[in-house]
Amino acid sequence: MELTSSVGALPLVGRVYQKRLEKLQIYTVEDLLYHVPHRYVDYSKVSKIKDLKIDDIVTVKGTLISMKNIYTKRGKKIQIAEIEDNTGKFTAIWFNQPFLIRSIKKGEKYSFSGKVSFFDHQKGFTSPDWESFEEKKATIHTGRLVPVYPETYGVSSKWLRARISYFLENFSSEVNEFLPVDILQKHQLDNFPSSIRNVHFPVNIDVTKNSKKRLAFNELLFIHLKNLYRKSDWNKNSAIHKLSIDRKTYKKFLQLLPFSLTKSQERSIKEIFTDLKKETPMNRLLEGDVGSGKTVVAAAAAFLSFINGYQSVIMAPTQILAQQHFSTLNEIFKTFKVRVALVTSSGVKADIGKTDIFVGTHALIHNKVDFDNVAFVAIDEQHRFGVEQRAHLVKKSGNKSISPHVLTMTATPIPRTIALTFYGDLDLSVLEELPKGRKPITTWLVPPKKREGAYAWINSQIIKAHVQAFVICPLIEESEKETMKQVKAATQEFEKIKKLLPKLTIGLLHGRLKAQEKNLILESFRNGKTDILVSTPVVEVGIDVPNATIMVIEAAERFGLAQLHQLRGRVGRGKEKSYCLLFTDIRSKKAQTRLNALKETLSGFELAELDLKLRGPGELFGKRQHGFPELKIATWHDSLLINQTKTLALDIIKNPSKYKKVVKILKYQDIIPN
Ligand code: ADP
Ligand code: MG
Repeated sequence: MELTSSVGALPLVGRVYQKRLEKLQIYTVEDLLYHVPHRYVDYSKVSKIKDLKIDDIVTVKGTLISMKNIYTKRGKKIQIAEIEDNTGKFTAIWFNQPFLIRSIKKGEKYSFSGKVSFFDHQKGFTSPDWESFEEKKATIHTGRLVPVYPETYGVSSKWLRARISYFLENFSSEVNEFLPVDILQKHQLDNFPSSIRNVHFPVNIDVTKNSKKRLAFNELLFIHLKNLYRKSDWNKNSAIHKLSIDRKTYKKFLQLLPFSLTKSQERSIKEIFTDLKKETPMNRLLEGDVGSGKTVVAAAAAFLSFINGYQSVIMAPTQILAQQHFSTLNEIFKTFKVRVALVTSSGVKADIGKTDIFVGTHALIHNKVDFDNVAFVAIDEQHRFGVEQRAHLVKKSGNKSISPHVLTMTATPIPRTIALTFYGDLDLSVLEELPKGRKPITTWLVPPKKREGAYAWINSQIIKAHVQAFVICPLIEESEKETMKQVKAATQEFEKIKKLLPKLTIGLLHGRLKAQEKNLILESFRNGKTDILVSTPVVEVGIDVPNATIMVIEAAERFGLAQLHQLRGRVGRGKEKSYCLLFTDIRSKKAQTRLNALKETLSGFELAELDLKLRGPGELFGKRQHGFPELKIATWHDSLLINQTKTLALDIIKNPSKYKKVVKILKYQDIIPN
C-alpha cells in the first residue's frame, strides 16, 4: 500500500465507508492521514481500581468478570459490566447498546477510559471508551491522548483512529520526508513522518502544535506548487488573436456609457487591456462584490475584440443570467454596431458569422460556437465553473497550443491572500468599491412574532411605492443541484404568500422549470408585472432588477454569511431605498451573532472574513455556502505560513534539482492542465 492508494485498499473500508469518506474529501490513504483531529481527550492517566476518585478522568485496565443487559422500569436497556484488577472491582454502564454484550467478553482483558462517577453506591464509569488490551500492544482509544475528529457523515472517531493506526502500524515506511534539511531548519519544521504520527497519536499535547504546523505547511506548499505549474503551463499557450488598442474608439465607448467608470473598474480594464496585447493568452480573475459592475469591464474587453475584428464569448452559469447579460450588453452597445447574440438550446438566434458577442451558458456555448474567430472569453461566477472550463478553451494548432484570452469573474468576496493562494495560477484584478450613489441597504432580523407585521409592511410598500420584492425560500439541503424537496418547499412558500397577500401578483422561480418558463417568469418580474418573486436559493446569482427593493430571506440562519450577502445584493441597485429582511426562528447566540453582522456591515469582504472566523468545525449548514475554498489543516489567517510556502514553491520551480523528492511526489495527474 502507498500513500496514493485508494482508502478502499485499507482493511474494513468497504463501499459504504468509502462513500462516507468521499464526503469528507478523503479519497486516498494520504487524504486520510491529512484528516487531522480537532481536539484530544487526555486518557493518559492510568489508575488501579482501588485508587479511583470521583470525577477523575482515567484509564483502568482489568478483566471482565460479568456483562449483562438489564431492562429498566421505563423499558430502557442498560448494559452493566463488572471489571476487576488485582486491587478491586468496579462497574461500567452503557445505555441502549445491547450489542455490546457480543463484543465485550467474560474473562478477557480490556482497557476502559472515562470519568469516574457514582453508580448505585459504587464507583464506576458511565459509557466509557474501551478496547481490548494486550500487554505488549499500544492502546489506541484509551490510556493515552486520544484524537477526536469532527464526527460527520457517519464516520466516528473510533473508526478513523483504528484505520489510521492500522496504516501507521503496518506501512509507516511509506511516509517519508521530502523537504531538504536546511528548509526544515529554516522554517523550524518537524519532519513529516513524525508529524503525521504525532498529530494522530501524540505522546503529549505540546508536540501536536508543531505537527499541525508541518502538515499545514505541506498543504499550502502543494497548493502553491500546483498553481505555479498550471501557470507555467498556461504561459506556454499562444493567444489565438493578439489585440491592439484603438484609444480613440475606446474613448467613444466610454463617453457613450450611461455612467462614468469607478476607479477600480478603470484600473481593471487597464490591467486587462495590457494582457490583451500580449502573445500569451490572458488568464485573469476579476473579483468584485455583487453590484460592483463586473459586466461593463467584460464588455470593455469584448469591445476591444470587436474593434479588432474578432468575436467574444460571455459565459453565464445559468440561462437566466445569460439572458440578463444579453439585455445588459445590448443596452451598453446600443449606439455601436456590435451584434450580440443569445445562444439558447434551440441554437443561435442570429447569423453566426455576423455575430460579435455570443452570450450563453457554458454547456451551450461549447456545443454551438466555433471558437476560431473568438479572441476574448469571459466566464461569469467562477465558483460554478473552475479550471476545467478554461481547459476546454485550449486547442492544438500545429505544434502549438492556442487559447483565447480568458477573464473569469466572481462575486465571491475572497480576501486577497486567499485569492492569491487558491487562484494563484490566475492574475488578479479586484473591484474594491461599488459605483457611487448607491443607497445603503437596511437589514432587519425578523423574529416569528414580527412576521405578520413584516408581511403587512411589505404589502403596503409594494402598493404605495410600486416597488417589488424577492422572497428566498429556506435552504433545505446542501446540494449543488436543486432537489425535488427544495422545489416543493418553494412551491409551498409561494402558495402561502399568495394567500397572505392576495392583492399582489406573485411569481415562482425554481431550477426545475423549463428555460422558457423561467424566462417568462423573470421577464414578468423585470417589467414590473409581478410584484413578488418567490425563489429557491439556487437560482439567485446575479439577477439585476433595480426596481426590486425588498429582499426577504426565510430561515436565514441556514445560509452562510457570504451567501446572505449575495442574496442581499439583489436589492439596492436602483434609486429607491432598499431593505433586507432576515426571517429566523432560531434564538441561539451564535446564529444571532452571525445574522447581526449583516446588519452592521455592507462589505462583502468584511463579512467573508467574519464568516471564516465564526464557522466552527463540523458545522453543517453554511459550510460550503460561504464560497471559499476549503483548507483542511492550514488557516487562511496564517499569512506568515502562506508567504513562506509561496517563497519555497517559487524556489522549487526555479531549482527543481534541489527538491527532487518534492517534484517526484507532486502528482502530475492531479494538476489539471490549462
Ligand atoms: P456585478 O458586478 O454584480 O455583475 P453588474 O455588472 O450587474 O454587477 O452591475 C450592476 C449594476 O451597476 C448594473 O445595473 C450596471 O449598469 C451598474 N453599473 C456598473 N458600473 C457602474 C458605474 N461605474 N456607475 C454606475 N452604475 C454602474
Ligand atoms: Mg454579474
